[in-house]
Amino acid sequence: MEPYGADLLILGAGPAGLCAAQYGSRANLRTTVVERMAPGGQALNIDVLENYPGNVERNGVPARTGFEFCEDLYRQAEDFGAKFVMADAVQLEREPDGIFVLTLSDGGLLRAPAVILASGAERRKLGVPGERELAGRGVSYCATCDGPFFKGGRILVVGGGDSACDEAQYLSRLSTRITLIHRRGKLRAQKALAQRVLSNPNIKVLFNTTLVEIRGEERVSAVLLDNGGTKVEEAAEAVFVFAGSVPRTELVRNLGVELDKAGCVVTDQKMAASVPGLFAAGDVRSSPFRQVVVAAAEGAVAAHCAAAYLDALRGETYR
Ligand code: NAP
Repeated sequence: MEPYGADLLILGAGPAGLCAAQYGSRANLRTTVVERMAPGGQALNIDVLENYPGNVERNGVPARTGFEFCEDLYRQAEDFGAKFVMADAVQLEREPDGIFVLTLSDGGLLRAPAVILASGAERRKLGVPGERELAGRGVSYCATCDGPFFKGGRILVVGGGDSACDEAQYLSRLSTRITLIHRRGKLRAQKALAQRVLSNPNIKVLFNTTLVEIRGEERVSAVLLDNGGTKVEEAAEAVFVFAGSVPRTELVRNLGVELDKAGCVVTDQKMAASVPGLFAAGDVRSSPFRQVVVAAAEGAVAAHCAAAYLDALRGETYR
């Protein structure tokens, strides 16, 4: 498949993309990964990756952080021969002969007969007044990145899922004045995470409460909350929003790929999407459970099945 430049293109270098890169290159596919930020994706921001199987404290050496874990995944994929291109991918097309052509923002083109979309998801914005204006000036979507700027401060956390609970727990080590608000009467997070938050003396949990507005001139100074119709202004220096995520599918929408109601790519058990040669893995894929271990496994399955797809194209299928 020499004329195509690569056998397998992987879009995104989070845990799904990095594991796909490792399995793809180890299967002797010429594998190119395109990533616009640093390899690791959202997993870089995980404080301690305590629920990845085998990632445990040993002989006094703590379990790896998300950053350390992703560094190792990256090194492993490179050692197996994967190539990394740090660039913004702007368009993906599929030519009539089934070859995918990826256009980069600098005009560069990458071609391959198989693509794994591992572009992940981005944090959902609330869309309340003040959120956009004060982003980076007290409004944040990443506690490990920005939490240390607000040591000892009054911090509002929005959301009731795993992210909100994990990140509130992290922030509670930096300040005793954390308030977590959730729009329902019960946390959505996994029970163990929810329980930690509910029993943490540094975290006050307000149920049935929504954020109406974020206030401040240069920086966040207050929030307006709605608790069952009663609006209250509370002082706050920071607002961390964990209201779920939106899958990054903009590169494949023009291909007519099937998406679910949440906008995630629908695949079969081989991680194959509805477009031949296109696979998806990780947070961009339609799946009931989003975890690093799930993304990693999906990346491995996608690469393995992409290799089988390419074998079939070459007429080399094992029978
Ligand atoms: P999530 O599970 O979708 O939770 C998002 C939370 O934000 C929900 O509680 C939701 O409320 C709330 N929300 C959504 N839109 C809102 C709005 N406009 N206003 C107020 N609240 C809003 O998202 P996540 O917590 O980011 O987790 C995403 C995935 O990653 C999950 O599959 C999760 O299991 C996984 N994850 C796992 C871990 C871990 O295992 N340690 C850590 C982080 C994430 P409702 O409940 O009312 O819908």
